[in-house]
Formats: sequence, C-alpha cells, structure tokens
Amino acid sequence: MSKTDRPSSHGVNTRLAHSGHDPKSFFGFVNPPVVHASTVLFPDAATMVSRDQKYTYGTHGTPTTDALNTAIDELEGSEGTVAVPSGLAAVTLPFMAALSAGDHLLVVDSVYSPTRNFCAGMLARFGIETTYYDPAIGAGIDSLMRPNTKLVHTEAPGSNTFEMQDIPAIAEVAHAHGALVSIDNTWATPLYFKPLDHGVDISIHAATKYPAGHSDILIGTVSANKTAWPAIKRTFSMLGICAGPDDAYMTLRGLRTMGIRLARHQESALTIARALETMPGVARVLHPALESFPGHALWKRDFCGSSGIFSIVLDVADPARQQRKAHAFLDALEIFGLGYSWGGYESLAVHANLSDRTIALPPKEGPVIRLQIGLEDVEDLMVDIERGLAAARSA
Ligand SMILES: *Cc1c(COP(=O)(O)O)cnc(C)c1O
Repeated sequence: MSKTDRPSSHGVNTRLAHSGHDPKSFFGFVNPPVVHASTVLFPDAATMVSRDQKYTYGTHGTPTTDALNTAIDELEGSEGTVAVPSGLAAVTLPFMAALSAGDHLLVVDSVYSPTRNFCAGMLARFGIETTYYDPAIGAGIDSLMRPNTKLVHTEAPGSNTFEMQDIPAIAEVAHAHGALVSIDNTWATPLYFKPLDHGVDISIHAATKYPAGHSDILIGTVSANKTAWPAIKRTFSMLGICAGPDDAYMTLRGLRTMGIRLARHQESALTIARALETMPGVARVLHPALESFPGHALWKRDFCGSSGIFSIVLDVADPARQQRKAHAFLDALEIFGLGYSWGGYESLAVHANLSDRTIALPPKEGPVIRLQIGLEDVEDLMVDIERGLAAARSA
C-alpha cells in the first residue's frame, strides 16, 4: 500500500504495523530487504543521463531508507523525510539548509546542549548569528525577529527541564516575518505531537531514542512540509549524510512496536512522577503531564500523550552540597543505569548539567536528576528511586 491509498482513519498502531513497506513489492516478504549499496547499475547510457531511474546511487536512497522515510512521512504528515546518521545530524541539517552567511537564527534556551555547541562552534564561523529566547516567549518572539531572521528553532518540551512552548503562536509570528520554524520533536515522537499540524515547517527526531528503542542504534530523521522540503532534500544530497542500511532497517523494525512501548513508558513514568511529587527529599517534579507543571496547559492543548523521560529536583538548597547529594542518589541506584541518551527499554538516570543556560536558568531548589523510565516493573523502579532518595538524605 502506498501512503496515498492507506486510510488515515486507521488507528496509530495499525499504521505503525503496516506503514512503509508493501510486502507485495518484494515477493511477499513481510519486511523490506536491507539494501547495502553504493553503486546502482543502469541498463544503458541514455538512462544514465536521463535521470528517470528511481535509484541511482546509495547516498541518494535505497528501498530500505525509502521504507523508513515513508513510514515517518505517514506519521508526521510530511512531504518528505530523510534519514541521517544521528539525532545531532538531524538537528544540524535544517540549519545548513535554511541559513546563509549574514543570517540570524533564534534558538530556545532550553535546547539540547550539542545544538548550542553547533551554533557557537560552526554556524558562528560561517557568519550566522544565534540569539537564545525564553521557552515561555510565545507570540512575544515578535520582538526578537530581525529582517535577516531566517529560522526559529524550537524544542518542546525542552531538554532536561521540560519547558513547554506555544508552538502555534511562535510559528505564526515567524511566518509573518518570512522565517521557517523547526522543532526537535524527539520527546513526543510523532505519536504524541504532530508539529506540521501546528505550523512547524521541519520536524526532526533523534530516532536513536523511541523509534529505534533499544539503545543500540544512532539515527536521526528530518521531515519537512512542502515549503521546506526542496531545501532539506538538496542539502541532504550535498552533505552526503545518509543513514546506514542496517540502522534504517532496525529503526523501521522499532517503529512496529513503538506505539505499545510508548504507552507503557508513558504510564510508568506518570505513575512514578506522581508518586515522587509527595516524596521527602524531592522539591519538584518536572513533567509536562503533571497538573502542577507550569507548561501543563500548553501540553494539554497541543499534545496527545507524554513519554518516559522527566526530571526531579532534589531538595538541596545549599549549592555546596548539591553535587554530593546528587551523586549519592545516583550511586545508590541498582536498576537504573547511569548513562546518556534515552528511549531504550531500560531505565537510566543522570545529573543534568544546565550550566550553559542563559535565560531558562536551573531551578534554585537543588540539583536536577533526569530519569528515563524504561519498561521494567514500576514497583521495582520505585524501590530503586526510594533507595536513591534515602542515600541522598543521609549523604
Ligand atoms: C539525544 C538527542 C539528540 C541527539 O541524538 P543522537 O542520536 O544521540 O545524536 C537530539 N535532540 C534531543 C532532544 C535528544 O534528546
């Protein structure tokens, strides 16, 4: 089935189970082939120059990457998608596509830190200036728009502290000034937020996280609407940053179960977040689906679910004791692993480093511990967290 003849009335799990590959197109095999390719042969010299052969070279796409990209297009409602070798590559591709020397870029201050590194370390060298803005700015972003502002980059919720953004309000202002809008939609996945329906032009995913889902793959996707797609496709070809065939295949495999995995991540994370709100030693829980969270109303208005990662703020006001307490919490954990990234089946914890923030400043109450709630049993995870809190209290 192609994306045009698939009823959009089907539920999301039905679409996840069947999108991207038509078994009839490959001898009835349920899954698409993993095509390892640089060279593609042409039948004759005329076809070589005619450009009407579907596949021409490995970097430009294969049946395997097409299967993944088509599945993502169905979920995002996008005109086109490309798969790149990491989530970070997915964040930077739209910047390279939309910006030129002398242009100005607006980036939310609660952005994924390596995105900030790219702006300071690479874009600045090419004469592109970045201004950071308050995640709560909404339509107020109008005051930061300049005649040379070409792109507004959003991330909702923000990394580590989960600030929500009024995406439709920002998109309306950006478009009125002729700028494009990109979003790092990794937290929600297209199942829980569909950015292109809310005015965003380019939606990117660290598909390393929930789509791949098993902490064993690095991959990113960039999906664009009709306006932004030609520049994304052109820039992708110029850079040659194509995802590998095995990674593309495994990510499509991950998508098949993403709906049920996310439902479980959502339920477990919310149960734990709610319990932590009243736990001694916890000053605050940063989770958009909690009624107590400042951005909750925006989350409720625009999102249709929450995923498995949120943060707690430990109650340690004295800055001199924050690191020791945070480390005591982490070192007492037996099920949660200490490690970066998230979206896999296993639980993880990190002490978030927020030292690069200039506007969305770190909470004053204490250190921020980010928790990725995996697919383990909630009762076991709660015992582990209580063990961590007890260790932090006595440290
Ligand atoms: C992890 C992450 C990325 C980067 O993904 P990698 O595949 O690890 O490069 C980008 N954005 C967000 C919000 C992330 O959490």
